Order: sequence, then structure tokens, then C-alpha cells
Amino acid sequence: MSEKLSIKAPLSGVLIELDTVPDPVFSQRMVGDGIAIDPTSEVLLAPCSGTVVQMHPAGHAVTVRSHEGVEILVHIGIDTVKLKGEGFEPLVEVGQEVEVGENLIKFSADILAQKAKSLISMIIFTNEDAISKLHFQAGSVQANSDEIVSVELAEESTDQVTDSHSELISETIIVPNPTGLHARPSAVLANLCKRFDAKVQLQKGDHRANARSVVGLMGLEVGRGDKVQLVAQGPQAQAALDALVPQLREGLGEEGATPVVMRGAEAQAPPEEPVVLPPRSGDESLLVGVAASPGIAVGTVHQLRESEIEVDEEPEGPPDVERTELKRAIGSSIRELEALVARLHGEADPSKAAIFAAHQELLEDPDLLDLAESSIAKGLSASGAWKRAYQLHADRLANLRNELLAARANDLRDVGRRVLSKLVETEESHIEIPEGSILIAEDLTPSDTANLDRKKVYGFCTTAGGATSHVAILARSLGLPAIAGIEARALDIKDGTRVILFGGKGQLKVDPTDELVTSVREAQKKREVRRKKQLEKTMEHAETRDGHKVEIAVNVGGVTEAEEAVKLGAEGVGLLRSEFLFLERSFAPSEEEQFETYSAVAKAMGPDKPIVIRTLDVGGDKPLPYLPIPLEENPFLGQRGIRVLLNRPEIFRPQIRAILRATEFGKMHIMFPMITTVSEFRAAKKVVREEEKKLGIEPIPVGLMIEVPAAAMCAEILAKEADFFSVGTNDLTQYTLAMDRGHPQLAARIDGLSPAVLRLIKRTVEAAHAHDCWVGVCGGIAGEPQAVPLLVGLGVDELSVGLPLIPAVKDRVREYSLEECQKLAERALEMEDASDVRALCPDSLEEELKLS
Ligand code: PEP
Ligand code: MG
Repeated sequence: MSEKLSIKAPLSGVLIELDTVPDPVFSQRMVGDGIAIDPTSEVLLAPCSGTVVQMHPAGHAVTVRSHEGVEILVHIGIDTVKLKGEGFEPLVEVGQEVEVGENLIKFSADILAQKAKSLISMIIFTNEDAISKLHFQAGSVQANSDEIVSVELAEESTDQVTDSHSELISETIIVPNPTGLHARPSAVLANLCKRFDAKVQLQKGDHRANARSVVGLMGLEVGRGDKVQLVAQGPQAQAALDALVPQLREGLGEEGATPVVMRGAEAQAPPEEPVVLPPRSGDESLLVGVAASPGIAVGTVHQLRESEIEVDEEPEGPPDVERTELKRAIGSSIRELEALVARLHGEADPSKAAIFAAHQELLEDPDLLDLAESSIAKGLSASGAWKRAYQLHADRLANLRNELLAARANDLRDVGRRVLSKLVETEESHIEIPEGSILIAEDLTPSDTANLDRKKVYGFCTTAGGATSHVAILARSLGLPAIAGIEARALDIKDGTRVILFGGKGQLKVDPTDELVTSVREAQKKREVRRKKQLEKTMEHAETRDGHKVEIAVNVGGVTEAEEAVKLGAEGVGLLRSEFLFLERSFAPSEEEQFETYSAVAKAMGPDKPIVIRTLDVGGDKPLPYLPIPLEENPFLGQRGIRVLLNRPEIFRPQIRAILRATEFGKMHIMFPMITTVSEFRAAKKVVREEEKKLGIEPIPVGLMIEVPAAAMCAEILAKEADFFSVGTNDLTQYTLAMDRGHPQLAARIDGLSPAVLRLIKRTVEAAHAHDCWVGVCGGIAGEPQAVPLLVGLGVDELSVGLPLIPAVKDRVREYSLEECQKLAERALEMEDASDVRALCPDSLEEELKLS
């Protein structure tokens, strides 16, 4: 029979079951099991004798650890953290011993009643391993006299064992991944570990690494065929091993992970890949390296050397302040990366997005953070500690023999600099790059590469890196010819020297003959001529050869893009991602601020061009500090888009009013994201109609994004009530194919030209047109040459694309007749997969111009 602990009512009031508490964090027991109370008293008392182990700085929550080791959190009211201490008076301090019934926090029920969502207070058991069973009471209770919970203690908790879980060691696993545990499988393993309440380590030989740390895992240099073991400790150690061992054995979802065939117990792991040294050409004027990104560029050399960010290691404040500074800088970098990832997804660039998503992961690496924090504790400034920590880790990676892992050192330095630049007041020195430059550097970071001014930089070479480096991936996605791992003598070429960069061959020709330059330039001209022709006609409408008009609109995030889009012939804004106004700030933009922005966009577009503003589309994967959403296991399937806004009228209504007020300047349209059912659409539209009435404004068009398969399947029903649809193929593809749009291993297969997605678009268009509802496509495929004729053939009325794509998309529409488009679309719908669809309408000139 286990021992019992009696928990006394900390407040007088009525007991409530946790399931009915109006806050999912508690009702879904994310913090732990427990009970709630609707209080009638105003002083919180200790529910048992013990030690105060935590007092929230806002004074609304306290945790007491009983002498038996049971931790009880009492949280007064719901959403009361927002009061920032107003109405609360803590009466005890952390570390203080308290007796049952002793006063802990005094609070004002009046203030809470006015300012908090609810007074209901929660009593939660946060360390469930100390408990074997909880028996809850019900009904009205008197503070400190009635028992509310009787706790049956777990066997270990009575022994006062804090580290009571012994280590469990798994069987030996032979790593089947083709290149061992490099960044991606390491990231997968680290993520899987986070699901378990257990400390998990990976052991190779005598070395162990924290399995939640990508850097730590990579540091073990686990190669294909290596033998490893998982070591777990904690309440869910066994569950962790049960789940992780098969995953590790099967390659953590990596393609090409095949079992290593062992002959006999002592079979050898396959020999290490020989290190390939960059070859030398033998020709003084020809330098060779690895083909990182195809294309030919003629230009002049500009040597680029990265300046070091100087830090002062002397702290300005106590360690707590420095720690907070570091957290702020990391948090702001994560948000910056999130915005970048979201934008890249919006531009249908999943491979680029995956690189920066991996950077986010690096910023959450526990080993890296531990190292920085311990340096702060030893008296270093936040910037000094951070710089030392990331450089140490980067050097560790760079020295690994595995080339693939060593390449990740550059990513770590990049993300490290990103954080450092937020801790140090220096402006990043702006380097003037002359037009027509071929950059030469030891290395470039992914951020440098993504920010290159394409008007001035024609290509680049780095002495570090290889074809798989993230810089190479970025260069390909930017269409910039590039060579990685070029001979080191490239660093000695004088600025201004004329060169030709053959990206596809991995060759740099120094001082080429005039003849060679001429022939290369002629070939390039063809491409330029095409772009010029496209630009010449970009202010004209896009219509097929037989006169079928398709509206070409633009996707924007703000005013500047809208202004540029008009100059490029955009016929409207098909998608204004309003979340850009809401991200990276600690409170929501006011109605006035939003009104200013929407009005400015409207003025930029002029009175006749439609402007579709999408209401705030954030959710579990893009949390905002002022819009907390509980951690979700599947954020893409959780609180996103309209699901969030319908519950947050204080954010929703001001946004709607701001858009409506901007109708004074332009043709505003309102669009809701992530609509799944018609009832959601009705509820959201009702808000628009109510606000229109209040403002005395005529009804404006209201539409929705088709990005959930349910909406496409029931488009007939939605079309009766909506004025327009815009197909968000980025999300529609993710939900149709059941593949996370940011998943690094699935990136190549998440293709919006999948026949399944095309069939949903066809269905959407047919339903819409039967009810006088127009249809646009604003997802990434709208701007892809291979998709444009198909979407036109499916009957889509508007294509909304990224800014630079407008001229090319218009041109693409003009290449075909409507009948041709329809025939192609019919064939596409019958294809087996996306690659067959893509082969249907290749971009012929691009093929012809593949020069290298
Ligand atoms: C989409 O899902 O296709 C879309 C345009 O929205 P976002 O990429 O912003 O989620
Ligand atoms: Mg979307």
C-alpha cells in the first residue's frame, strides 16, 4: 500500500474538473493532471507543507514541492500572466519553507474579474513520476479545511530519490544511412527525442553525445556501418528506446538508407570514402573546382573577405541580464528565420526554406546553449559567450573528416553571426560590390548568398564547400552560376581581372580571349533578349493566342513590393500576406497602423486594381508573442489561420475595420486563410458585414483561400456564399499529399503539380464558375513556367505570383491557345505523378539555353 499525501484547498470555492477549464494548456493536461477551483477567497494558501520552488515573476503562479517530492503548481486565473503582476502580491519567496495553509499570494478578485479571461484557478501536479494515483474531490470547499485531492505516492518518491531512474542501454544498432548521421538524420533524431521525458544519449565507442543536440550528434562522426547504442534515463526511458531504436535502425526516414550487410560477427564496416582533393587544371589560366550551380557568367573578379564582429567580453550586467540578452537575440533570430522560411515557402522554394529551417534547429541546440550559458555564468558578456560557443562548435564540425558534416560548420557560423549581430551594436559593414562582379571568397554564408545583389553579382567561387553545401543549393535557387572548392590560388586573382565562370563545369577561365568572351556573350544575349521582350510587353494584359484573358496579379508583403509590382505590370494584388505586419513585434499592430499600410498599398495600386488582403494567417508553427498558442504536436493541423482569428475578436475585428476603411483608396477584397467548412466562412464573413454596417461602408467582396482539401471537395457549397476563391497550392499540396511543406527529406516530392492537387483545382474551378465566383491561384505553382498553361487550361481566372515573375508569366500565357492549354490540362489530370505532368510542358528556350 503506497503512502498518501493530502492536498488541502488553497482557496475557497467550487471544484471544477480540469477538462472543462477554458484553456487547452490545462484542459489537455499539457502541464500535468490536476483540478481547478472557481474561487471565492482572495488569498492563495499552501496546499501542503513543503518548499516554494517557483514563483512566477508576474506573481500569478507558484509551485510548492511537498516533503514527499510531489510538485504542485497553483495558477491563479486564466491568461493572468498578461496582467504582468497587476492585482497580485506574492507573500513568499523561492526557497522558503511553508506550512500547509500558509499565505502564498494575495490577489484582487476585482482586478482579475475586470482584466482576466477567468478567475478559475488550477492546481496541477507537475511531476507525475512522483505519483501513483490521484483521487479528486468535488463540490464546494473551504480554504485549508477541506481536502481537494488525495495523492497516492509512487514508490520511488518516498525514497526521496531525485535521480531515481537508472540508465537503460539499447541493443547495438548498425547505422544504415548512406553518409552516416549527418545533419538531416541528426536533426530527425534530435526532434524525435524531444517527445520523451527522458535524457537520451547516443553512444559510439567510448564517446557519448546528447541525442537532442544536432551538433553533439554530428560531433560523434557516426558513419555508415558504425555501431552505436542509445542510452536513456528518466521516466520515459523505456518508451524512448522502444520508439527510437527501430527508427535509428531504419535510417531515420532517410532515402537510400539500406542495411549494412555484415558477414559474421566481426564484419567490417564499408571503407571510408577517400578524401577527394580538388584537382588542379595544369593550365595557369584555368582554375577548377566543384560545379556548384550551372550557368555561365562573364565578369570581373571582386575578392570578398568577411570582417570579424568584435565583441566585448566584459559583461554590462549580472549573468541574469546577460542571459536574458542572449535569449532575446536568439529569439529574434529565430523569428527572423521563421519569417524568411515562410517567405521562401510563399515563393515555392522549399529547398531554400529547408536550409534556413535547419538554421532555426541549430539555434535550439541544447549543447550550444549550455556552453554559452555556462560561459555567461563564469562572467562573460552575452556576446562574448555566444561567440566563443558557436565558434567552438563550428571548429569542431569543420575538423571532422566527413566532408558533409564539415560543410555544416559554415551554417553554424552563419547562424552564429546572425545572433551576434543582434547582441553587438555595430552595423554590419556594407561592402560596395561593383556591377558585373564574380565574387571570390574563402567561404560565403547562406545568409550572404541569399542577400547578394543580383544586379551586381553575376556569379561566385569559394575555396571551401562542395556541391552539397547550402551555399551551393542557394546559388542554384537564385540562378547564380557558382563554383565551390575552387583551387586556393583563386584568392590571389587581382580585383578587376576579367574572367568567365563556367558553373556547370566547375571552371573559372582567367583572362579569356576576346573570341571566347564574344561567343559566350552571344549565347547569353538570347536569354536577355527574351527577358527584354517579356519586359516590353509586361504592361499589356496577358491573353492566350486566341484572346482568352488571364489576370496576372502579384503576391506582396507590404507597400514597397506593391509599388514595384505596378511598374512591372501587376493587374492587382492577388495576395497580401498581412502577417508580415504582425511578425517580429511584441504587440499587435493597431487598427490605425494597419489602416495606414493597407491604404498605402491601395494608393500604390490605384483605384481600379483589386487588392486581396488575407487576414492574419499565423498559427502553431508561426507563434506571436502576443498571441500565445499552446505547444501543439501537429501545429500544421492545429490552431492556424481563421481558426485562431475566430477566437481572437480583439485582433480580428480591428484588422477587418482597417481593411474596410482603406476602401476609400482602392478596391479592397477580404480573404480568409485555412477555411475548412462553410460555417467557419459564414462566421468570419458575418464579422465583415457587421463592421461594414457600423462603419457605413458598402459590402466589399469577401473570399477564401482553398488550401485545405475539405474546402476544395466542398467548393460547391462555399461558392454559393463566397465572391472569390484563391487556391493556396503551397498548403493545399501539403495537406493533400500529407507531407509537411518544410520537411527536408520530402522536399523533392512535395510538388504542387501532382495530379491529385490538379484534380482538386479542377473541382474548385468548376464549382466556383457555376456560382459566379472567380478563382485565382496564389500558391507557388502560379509562377512556374510548367504550371502556367495547365492552370489556364483548368479555367483559373487569375494567377498571383512573386514580383519578378510577372513578365515571364504573362509571356507564358501568350505562348499558348486556350484550346492547347485545355488539352494539356486534360492530359495532366490523367498522369501518374508530378514529374510526368512537368514533362508535358517544358520551357523550350530554357532547355535550348542550357549552355553548360
Ligand atoms: C499557400 O498556402 O499556397 C499560400 C499562398 O499561403 P502561404 O504560403 O502564405 O501559407
Ligand atoms: Mg497557406
